[in-house]
Amino acid sequence: MKHSAGSTPSNRPRKLTLSDKRALRRVSAGFQWVYANELPSMKGFESGDWVELVTGEGEFIACGTINPHSLIAVRILSRQRVSPDTSFFKQRIEAAFQFRKTLVDTKNCRIVFAEADNLPGFITDILGGQVLSVQLNTAGAERLKKTYLEALQNIFGNLPVILKNESAFRQIEGLTIETVPIGNVPDEIELVENGLKIRVPAKEGQKTGYYFDQRDNKRRFSEFARGNVLDCFSYVGGFGLHAANRANRVTFVDSSTGAVEFCRKNMELNQFDNGEFIKSDGFDALSRFAGENRSFDLISLDPPAFSKNRKSLKKAEKAYSRLNRLALQLLNPGGVLFTMSCSRLMEASLFDAAIARAAASSGISVRIIGRLHQAADHPILPSMRETEYLKGLVLKREG
Ligand code: SAH
Repeated sequence: MKHSAGSTPSNRPRKLTLSDKRALRRVSAGFQWVYANELPSMKGFESGDWVELVTGEGEFIACGTINPHSLIAVRILSRQRVSPDTSFFKQRIEAAFQFRKTLVDTKNCRIVFAEADNLPGFITDILGGQVLSVQLNTAGAERLKKTYLEALQNIFGNLPVILKNESAFRQIEGLTIETVPIGNVPDEIELVENGLKIRVPAKEGQKTGYYFDQRDNKRRFSEFARGNVLDCFSYVGGFGLHAANRANRVTFVDSSTGAVEFCRKNMELNQFDNGEFIKSDGFDALSRFAGENRSFDLISLDPPAFSKNRKSLKKAEKAYSRLNRLALQLLNPGGVLFTMSCSRLMEASLFDAAIARAAASSGISVRIIGRLHQAADHPILPSMRETEYLKGLVLKREG
């Protein structure tokens, strides 16, 4: 019998026995995943099925979704027996929304951050209070698509939705890549961040359209603004815009033509005329600047994730090291470098080591004067460090 979750909540969920001791201990400490190798057999289950985890004695542990084809096999949604219906998801999304009301501007933020909001695989950002940008990153979340969308509609009325089902996670989960507008989604949306106006592409944008996770780091960046500023891997210009007011010149570098055009547009929108816009590979641009004897007083270095799995971690470390060496060589004495990594597997200690190597090999003396994290609308579960991904350092050069 084919069992389907969400759409037929009255169906009785299938039971799955979990007897692996380590997994049981982890789950009871709040961990939300069960790995494939911790389960005896997943025969008969299909991707996205709703399951009940039970002990060897048949005692209820938790319920959630399963993907037998993924290393992360079970994703827990509740420690109570619940039906995965609209009212359950509405309640969870409302709780996530409520959580953010005292923390951030809830017209421009991440409303739901997957596991961190007890909704594995489900992400929702709100852009300018006008559009919801949604990602369903697991087979379980995908199966519950209709229910999730109904729950959102119950809370946000007829706000248009852009389904940005483009993340690499979907491939791992065996899902297709798609971008689907639901309702009247405009091409561009104007956001407000720390008092700046920022236009972003809604349909064509990267990720969910904007990087709200850097909000606090951008504000901090603005505090160091002076002289020549470089925003490398700029996307639509978030970091650079925050420094434009007090800088002589802000140089934006991104390999995406669209992103660089948005940097230009956003500088104009905020009435800044001190921008330089360069479409280029980041590594190449930094090397070229060195060849031209250019230097900067403040640099933001925010590359895409270099490592998506453990296998590529060593290579990623080397790439971070090389990139940061190039950036440090461009830093004026007394200058400040904001350097970031959004690779989840690149833990802070590894990242620190890569930066230490970069500093040593460049021969430039820097000190760490701050650490950077994902913003509060991307909270971290203490029981699940996997929810932490963004880390960065503020480095100041001597002199
Ligand atoms: N700093 C931005 C987010 C950057 S995301 C913010 O806070 O809003 C990473 C950016 O790097 C993307 O815009 C992507 O287009 C760009 N990118 C990816 N590979 C690149 C490369 N090799 N060289 C330059 N830019 C690159």
